[in-house]
Amino acid sequence: MAIDFEKAGKSIQDIVIDTDAGPLFAGRLCVVNNGPGSRVLVVAGIHGDEYEAQLALHRLVARLDADSVRGRLIVVPEANFPASANGTRCAPSDGANMNRTFPGDRAGTPTERLAAFLFHDVLPEADLLIDVHSGGPGYKGEAIAFAFHGPACRVPEAEVVRMMEAFSLPYITWQDGIASTFVGAAAAAGTAAIELEGAGTTLIEEGNVDVFADALLRGLVHFGVLAGDPPAGGTVSRHLDVRPENMFEADVPGLLEHRVRMGQRVETGDLVAVIHPFGGFDGPPHRVEARAPGIVISQRSLLRVASGDCLGNTGTPR
Ligand SMILES: [Zn+2]
Repeated sequence: MAIDFEKAGKSIQDIVIDTDAGPLFAGRLCVVNNGPGSRVLVVAGIHGDEYEAQLALHRLVARLDADSVRGRLIVVPEANFPASANGTRCAPSDGANMNRTFPGDRAGTPTERLAAFLFHDVLPEADLLIDVHSGGPGYKGEAIAFAFHGPACRVPEAEVVRMMEAFSLPYITWQDGIASTFVGAAAAAGTAAIELEGAGTTLIEEGNVDVFADALLRGLVHFGVLAGDPPAGGTVSRHLDVRPENMFEADVPGLLEHRVRMGQRVETGDLVAVIHPFGGFDGPPHRVEARAPGIVISQRSLLRVASGDCLGNTGTPR
């Protein structure tokens, strides 16, 4: 059943994807239409276990009615419903990382088909994409916004930067995009895209839904698609560069012990973590040192690490 993106007022509609095994129910989306104006798509749950983001979008849906929107707002709280329903990052049917499958494949695996639905059917109905992630069980992060833009994008780049600042999150990061993510593929296809990240770990800590819910309200009111006053609070965002040398990586397997705190400033060469070998009696733990100066904005929240795992990262103030 196709989605009716033109339906007047607020509607909640089922997402059903055709697969080789038959129709797959893939959650619901909310469409609100109210006259001319901006068209914005907000999604969460591309990684199914990033629940703060999904709950923030459900809170947004609950407060929406036709009168509160100017133009069109589409909200997809569980963009990878099979994964969300299973409590995992990826869908159990194919194990694919959805955020490396865009623009998707209508003849592919269930995850690839769902990505194709989001990319080919939903994305063209909006001029701006906001894709909300959170740390999941494996990472804990400061709240950040980052954006991707291309020459064909209908929303000017300067407006996208103002939009990122309107979220009033602690940080705006500048980093290279990945073409197979939803935001990367969207920007290349002409829809400016902003990703929000932050929170995470194995429980929802106090305030970690609020941070996304409030940021979205501020951004959507700024953009003009939502009427009303934005919530108080927030902050003036600091702009950070995140490059490969800002990443902390495990060279050996073992047990991770962080030696810095989130938000801490580090210099090149500072000890940021140690890795203790499993059952090791020989020698000192392996040292992980910062390869660039910066502020710690993400840290791994799982104790055991394998060689090559990302342990966290900094951003270098611009
Ligand atoms: Zn994610």
